[in-house]
Amino acid sequence: MPYKFCPQCATPLEPREVEGRTLPACPACGWVFYNNSAPCVGVVVVRPGPGGHVQENPAPALREEVLLVERGIEPFKGWWDIPGGFLESGEHPAEAARREVLEETGLEIEPVEVLDFYMDVYGPENEPTLNICYLAQVVDGEERAGSDAERLGWFPLDALPDKIAFNWEREALETIRARRVGEG
Ligand SMILES: [Zn+2]
Repeated sequence: MPYKFCPQCATPLEPREVEGRTLPACPACGWVFYNNSAPCVGVVVVRPGPGGHVQENPAPALREEVLLVERGIEPFKGWWDIPGGFLESGEHPAEAARREVLEETGLEIEPVEVLDFYMDVYGPENEPTLNICYLAQVVDGEERAGSDAERLGWFPLDALPDKIAFNWEREALETIRARRVGEG
């Protein structure tokens, strides 16, 4: 949400030209509201589907399954979500990936690679987010829906649910699907 007052000295903010852009700024202490994208992490946990790594299977790649969580809170309550969330102060994204997946699913994961970075917005004010997306695999733990998750589901890449909560998540899942098709 755009600030109306300076969070440092409570002076009303005024528009200021900053490197070619007009941004809310404090005329008293010089504070500028840059509205930087908030860094988030998302984790696509994958596992082989039924018969997924068997030679005879005609399309093994798309039988690979991804772990999604059904959101128990707004926004997008009841929609499916890639496990993840906002980075804590000073937290490495890989650490956030392990923490968020453990909180939401009970599973311990190890990130395999960074899939890509995805831009999106969050909440009623459409605040910009930078989503760092990991591919990961389960190394330990017991599955249970925790934190803000209603339930968990493993979905084959060729049978994902329609109600995926966020745009960036649809993009990331499509990235994986397209990559697997290319490999298949
Ligand atoms: Zn100020």
